[in-house]
Amino acid sequence: MGKRVGIVGAGTAGLHLGLYLRQHDVEVTLFTDRAPEEYRGMRLLNTVAHHAVTVDRETALGVNHWPGQQYGYFGHYYYIGVKPQPIEFFGDLHAPSRAIDYRLYQPRLMEDFLARGGHIEYREIKGDEISTLSAQFDLIVVCTGKGPLGQLFQHEPAHSPFDRPQRALCVGLFKGIKAPPIRAVTMYFSPGAGEMIEIPTWTFNGLAAALVIENIPGGDLEILAKTKYDDNPRAFLDLLLAKLRQHYPTCAARIDEKEFDLANGPLDILQGGVTPTVRKSHVVLEGGKLAVALGDVHTVVDPVLGQGANMASYAAWILGEEIVAQEVYDERFIEHVNLRRQDRVLGATRWTNFMLTNLKAMPLELQQFIFELSQHRALSNEFTDNFNYPERQWDCFASVERMRAWCASRLALATPPKPLESAGERRVGESA
Ligand SMILES: Cc1cc2nc3c(=O)[nH]c(=O)nc-3n(C[C@H](O)[C@H](O)[C@H](O)COP(=O)(O)OP(=O)(O)OC[C@H]3O[C@@H](n4cnc5c(N)ncnc54)[C@H](O)[C@@H]3O)c2cc1C
Repeated sequence: MGKRVGIVGAGTAGLHLGLYLRQHDVEVTLFTDRAPEEYRGMRLLNTVAHHAVTVDRETALGVNHWPGQQYGYFGHYYYIGVKPQPIEFFGDLHAPSRAIDYRLYQPRLMEDFLARGGHIEYREIKGDEISTLSAQFDLIVVCTGKGPLGQLFQHEPAHSPFDRPQRALCVGLFKGIKAPPIRAVTMYFSPGAGEMIEIPTWTFNGLAAALVIENIPGGDLEILAKTKYDDNPRAFLDLLLAKLRQHYPTCAARIDEKEFDLANGPLDILQGGVTPTVRKSHVVLEGGKLAVALGDVHTVVDPVLGQGANMASYAAWILGEEIVAQEVYDERFIEHVNLRRQDRVLGATRWTNFMLTNLKAMPLELQQFIFELSQHRALSNEFTDNFNYPERQWDCFASVERMRAWCASRLALATPPKPLESAGERRVGESA
């Protein structure tokens, strides 16, 4: 008999794993509490950008319905609001990233999964059901996002330095913001107050601008996470406009104030916070089978650097390869999975946590690093493209020495070596 895998949760982690396993003829049942037709009427789930490495996996799975050249964006603008003069620069991506409203993306991939012979059961799974469910499968994978089922897996304190959200989030999809000259993400930093990421995002009625406003608790922008749009939409928009003018003026300058509002209506806003958390990768269930943690259940990060879904997809792919390659799903199996996925997952976690801490006050070495990026396009291109490869970002940010060495090695390559002085050559300072 073939392998049978049960996946609880139909987010990006569950869908990419399910599709990968169907491509390799593994029998898969997805359990989810949401039917495809429910997504249209739901509140904004998040505002996720998939980087090119994730888009490549979608292409390999045959589910890239939104090709990069048409739907993608091509780089990052950066705006750092330091005094007296803000720093602004741009970096290219080697291939487009792309953001599709998950209320469109996820039901579309559920259709693909069904079309390829996957089964979906629509019901909420409770914690105590997992052991019973495991009797029907060789392996159970739990990828239910930030919900309570994840608590099945033990918290890993060594990789979870925070016990509360580090930013108070106010996230919305907006119309009335003129696109910048190149279709790109803009990352804004307002030291001491927070960050904002503007993402060109395809939603129900076309292209809109997602604003992910990351506010430092206790800072001037925190009020944006606490003020309700529904109580008084005009008052909310006026407050937001005033804060954008003050903290993110280059965004405010592109706003048509008459047009500016939520793109599809009052459900396009999300407020709250994420406590960055890493959990153990598996648990042995009653009866001896394994349940494996995947996606946000395993590792959840703050959205400031756009890593969560990208690493969920990466981890799903690795888990899929190991399920296909191995016959026995035991502790050794999970060791193989962990060894292969951990550098990227921990890299994304550590880099994101580093930025959350250091962007607050912008220590001198980070200011110096950003200044170097702003002066050298090759550096800003590499930094931007490394959003695809968070483990490379962590190679750079893991210590001050590494940050300095990263810049120095790139600058040495960028600056051509001085030619050797020859006998007849003019020296600096000599007249012609
Ligand atoms: C504002 C915001 C912006 C973000 N931006 C980015 C970004 O730009 N790039 C990026 O990579 N990541 C981003 N993320 C993170 C990203 O959204 C998550 O990391 C990713 O969606 C996690 O996928 P998942 O499949 O693990 O979980 P989810 O997408 O949360 O899916 C969970 C699934 O489980 C189902 N479910 C839940 N409980 C049960 C249950 N008990 N029984 C049955 N089914 C259940 C749900 O219906 C859903 O189908 C962002 C997050 C936020 C909040």
